[in-house]
Amino acid sequence: MERILEGRTALVTGSTSGIGHGIALLYAQAGAKVMLNGFGKPEEIARARAEVGAAMGVAEAPYSDADLSKPEAVRGMVRAAEAALGSLDILVNNAGIQYVAPVEEFPEAKFDAIIAINFASNFHAIKAALPGMKARGWGRIINIASAHGLVASPHKVAYVAAKHAVVGMTKTVALEIAETPLTCNAICPGFVRTPLAEAQVKPLAEEHHVSEEVALKDYLLEKQPSKRWVEVEEVARMALYLAGPGSGAVNGAALSIDGGWLAA
Ligand code: NAD
Repeated sequence: MERILEGRTALVTGSTSGIGHGIALLYAQAGAKVMLNGFGKPEEIARARAEVGAAMGVAEAPYSDADLSKPEAVRGMVRAAEAALGSLDILVNNAGIQYVAPVEEFPEAKFDAIIAINFASNFHAIKAALPGMKARGWGRIINIASAHGLVASPHKVAYVAAKHAVVGMTKTVALEIAETPLTCNAICPGFVRTPLAEAQVKPLAEEHHVSEEVALKDYLLEKQPSKRWVEVEEVARMALYLAGPGSGAVNGAALSIDGGWLAA
């Protein structure tokens, strides 16, 4: 692996699992010092810290247990990353949750939590990280939005709203930093093989009285013309491109990685 992030520091939120974990690992393998964040069983967190740490040549990667539904915790996490890593060059806003229900049945608490974690936390983290990036004259902000940041699906009112908001915020931040060496972009994945997406297969199988295999192909991946999962490493590779050299002219973009979903 070419060490294109040598000397860079990165904070990846929600990196104890799924896409965030894949990005943190690839960044560490590319030479970055990375701080992890996210929930999980103690042994899962320890495993993630050891795995990413090994790629960094240390026993364990630094880790913040910040609950991103709480603005003060988000700000504290950014301060902790700057202290532990010596700077914060790359911020990946990735943590997210999902809940699926029709609007009239959508629980208010779930709506509020999705807006707070999937959207508002990105604002608080960007606001906290920008001054340091500007002072050092380099920075990369990468927001993991979704195909649902560009188009809607039924029963995902909070998620679709939050992800559209992330894309809008990405564009605004990008315009504000357009004349600096910083960039802010969004990645918009289709269905990626992670616990968050795989959890949606079983309820669909039960709802439609079909096997999980049929539910995956005919209902979950219905909108994804490739009819296959996007893999975590494929998303991580896009995040590596945005953080690495040569991507400085990409700013304010919402980059699709969705097996053709948005083309249809
Ligand atoms: P995942 O469930 O595997 O991982 C989510 C991560 O976020 C975990 O580390 C979890 O601990 C963390 N997290 C959740 N709530 C948190 C909180 N309050 N504070 C701190 N951390 C918290 O999910 P994933 O599929 O890897 O999703 C990662 C991101 O990618 C999300 O923003 C999701 O919306 C987005 N995304 C996923 C898919 C997909 O199909 N998997 C598609 C498009 C976009």
